[in-house]
Amino acid sequence: MSYTKARKSDKRKFHRAKAQSKNNFGRGFRKGRAKSNLDLEQIVNRVGRGPRETDSFSPARSFQELNLDAKLKENITKMGFVNPTEIQEKTLKPEIRGRDLVGVANTGTGKTAAFLIPIIDQLTNGKPFSSLVIVPTRELALQVEKEFKCLTNGMGLYSASFIGGTSVGRDVHRLRRRHHLIIGTPGRLMDLTKRKALNLQDFSVLILDEFDRMLDMGFVNDIKKIVGGMKYRRQTMLFSATTDKTQKSLIDTLLTNPINISVGPTTNAAARINQDLIKVPKGGDKFNMLLDLVSGSEYERVLIFAETKRLVDKVSQRLNKSGVSAALIHGNKSQNYRIQALDKFRKGKVQVLVATDVAARGIDVDNVTHVINYEKPQTLDSYIHRIGRTGRAGKAGKAVTFVN
Ligand code: ADP
Ligand code: MG
Repeated sequence: MSYTKARKSDKRKFHRAKAQSKNNFGRGFRKGRAKSNLDLEQIVNRVGRGPRETDSFSPARSFQELNLDAKLKENITKMGFVNPTEIQEKTLKPEIRGRDLVGVANTGTGKTAAFLIPIIDQLTNGKPFSSLVIVPTRELALQVEKEFKCLTNGMGLYSASFIGGTSVGRDVHRLRRRHHLIIGTPGRLMDLTKRKALNLQDFSVLILDEFDRMLDMGFVNDIKKIVGGMKYRRQTMLFSATTDKTQKSLIDTLLTNPINISVGPTTNAAARINQDLIKVPKGGDKFNMLLDLVSGSEYERVLIFAETKRLVDKVSQRLNKSGVSAALIHGNKSQNYRIQALDKFRKGKVQVLVATDVAARGIDVDNVTHVINYEKPQTLDSYIHRIGRTGRAGKAGKAVTFVN
């Protein structure tokens, strides 16, 4: 896809579609089979084609040239990071200075390291403190913890993640030791707080990753309670690829004199994702169309989204029967099952992962070649996050959405 500058009329269409998708369907994770009337024709390949793209960004300094802890820099190099991404470069200084911050940048542009690196650097520089990272899904919590462990390898810093679907008793036990970083999903963090295993007063830094999701209806009450318990909170950072204007006043109550850093268009899907719609003709066999697609040789690592858990089960089953190796992930599966499914997909043991929106946000699997929406997502945000599972870390990706 060639790069085109978003025209005003496209932007207007985009905002109309966004308002429409929200008014009719709420946000994400909706149960049932409500049909989406998201008008993708107006959006596809226009979303995010704003004037500035991370591709054209050239950092002032490489990580090696930055004034960061030497061991941390060594770990950054080992992870294969040479230059900071734009969001990483722009947030680094204010974060190290302790500013409250809202960071918005496209999917797959390194927002995790953007909040972890400054925290780690501060930890090497004087008095220890503890940070709390709250994320919407269990898989994302584990992923953030893994990144922290890679970045802090050999530095004597401790982290743990606390997520649903695992043993609470074990979590209570683990909380007897001090951690520099805790990552959790709201439900489990609340549970551990109520059991007095987790003491929120121990944490001075709070990060909400995927903050627009964390502040929407499904999570906001837990978040408010957690924030209320963090009496010694001195720095709060919010990160996401999407924002929600209606959350502005809530965000104002959470942050003190924040700096807003927004990279690239905020109405975004990374511009390096080539997006297509496939029309299913009346009476057409959608599953066969899907099968044809994923049988194409370029469909090496494919993430397929469907709206309901039942349909996820069904599509995965039919793919396997048709000789396409597929794993699946959704909220009704045990945590062990979910971890194994994602692991098989990461390691390339299966070609396809079929998922609900539980895998839409934050999940970083290398080299996902294609995202397929077997059904149109309910909201524009859901569309942006889903297709953002491909085209990450500067790579190209392709997204295909079936429409009727
Ligand atoms: P986001 O949260 O913005 O969606 P992630 O933090 O998940 O993105 O990072 C996306 C991918 O980019 C990850 O695989 C991560 O390891 C990689 N990455 C992060 N920062 C850099 C960097 N500075 N250089 C190269 N790759 C990076
Ligand atoms: Mg992320």
